[in-house]
Amino acid sequence: MNIGILAVQGAFAEQEDILKKLGVPYTEIRCADDADQPFDGVILPGGESTVQGKLVEELGIFASLKQRISQGMPVLGTCAGMILLAQYIENQRKTYFGTMPITVRRNAYGRQLGSFHTEAFFQGIGRIPMTFIRAPFVSQANDAVQVLATVDDRIVAVRYQNQFALAFHPELDDEVQIHQLFLQCC
Ligand code: GLN
Repeated sequence: MNIGILAVQGAFAEQEDILKKLGVPYTEIRCADDADQPFDGVILPGGESTVQGKLVEELGIFASLKQRISQGMPVLGTCAGMILLAQYIENQRKTYFGTMPITVRRNAYGRQLGSFHTEAFFQGIGRIPMTFIRAPFVSQANDAVQVLATVDDRIVAVRYQNQFALAFHPELDDEVQIHQLFLQCC
């Protein structure tokens, strides 16, 4: 197995640490050639979606990754990664991969509550720690989208086919079970 990790900006090193811990080989995706490697799945880390989205296009990574995700390559997007996967982004015309039929609200928790930590139930796993950093949430989801977790009645984790999107950062809490769930699809 080999997992591609988008490594143009943001918290990709933390994703690498999780895969190291699980003993899963990975390759950083930094350029067009990397994006064409034979991955079994791809991770889109947290960071700044506008910067990541711009770099992914400028570095020639976009078309290949979008096509592979659309064709069923498993993907796990955290935070900014969730935004890159969303088909619609509130108050914003620009979208990125857009492979997941969800609408997200960026920086949804406002400035005061920009970052917070909680624990909540995750479908198929149980209660886990969740760290949110200027996180989005899912404001609308197509019926085909499975809700995996909510916090205060807001959707913070979803699955659609082989695509997983999380508003929080399991990698910052050393929480490996969601990655294990994703890896089972890879
Ligand atoms: N606020 C960021 C964005 O809009 C996401 C934050 C994160 O990935 N921790 O892209």
